[in-house]
Amino acid sequence: MRIVLLGAPGAGKGTQCKRIVERYGLLHLSSGDILRQERAAGTKLGEKAQSYMDSGVLVPDELIVEMMACAINKAPAAGFVLDGFPRTVNQAAQLDKSLAREEQKIDAVLNLEIDDKVVTERMTGRRSCPQCGTVYHIENLKPKTEGRCDHDGAELVQRPDDSLEVVQNRLKTYHQRTEPVVNYYKNSPVAPAFYHIDANKEADKVSASIFESLDALVSV
Ligand SMILES: [Zn+2]
Repeated sequence: MRIVLLGAPGAGKGTQCKRIVERYGLLHLSSGDILRQERAAGTKLGEKAQSYMDSGVLVPDELIVEMMACAINKAPAAGFVLDGFPRTVNQAAQLDKSLAREEQKIDAVLNLEIDDKVVTERMTGRRSCPQCGTVYHIENLKPKTEGRCDHDGAELVQRPDDSLEVVQNRLKTYHQRTEPVVNYYKNSPVAPAFYHIDANKEADKVSASIFESLDALVSV
């Protein structure tokens, strides 16, 4: 089973991916992780990507697709879940071409749908411990003493990534560049099974909807 998981930042893609790969024995392919691994290993692709990042420009689609295609080739027969990729319509189209060369295709697309307001609350409410890295939330996961880490008493901070401005920018980029990928897959000649998943709910309920959809697909 070859799956693409789409959704805004903060929709819980990482968490759901972990649960999907456990249940169905798939490989989790996160574009962020793969990019980091390639750079750390100093591969040719990694070095190329690094040079773009050093100069502050986006890593071009071709390079990302090449990197992901390499990782996909090493996936087990059971299949994989793509997380954080494809991020643009161009990447999605190139991925289809690359898979077609191996006589493969994407079987299912899961779209985690979440309101901007919920994402904003989730992300801007996070507080992290600068000493041990534990993450809290001002509403949903409060520390025992307000503003202090349960483990070491350090003063909790909001990471720059979780500031309102950064979250709003990421959402804007998502709506502009990644949301069109949803329509790409809906109209794709490859016609993967497409599932709308309500990601405003808590993680366990989201997992339950995902499993219901995929179980039906697997048993066909
Ligand atoms: Zn701590």
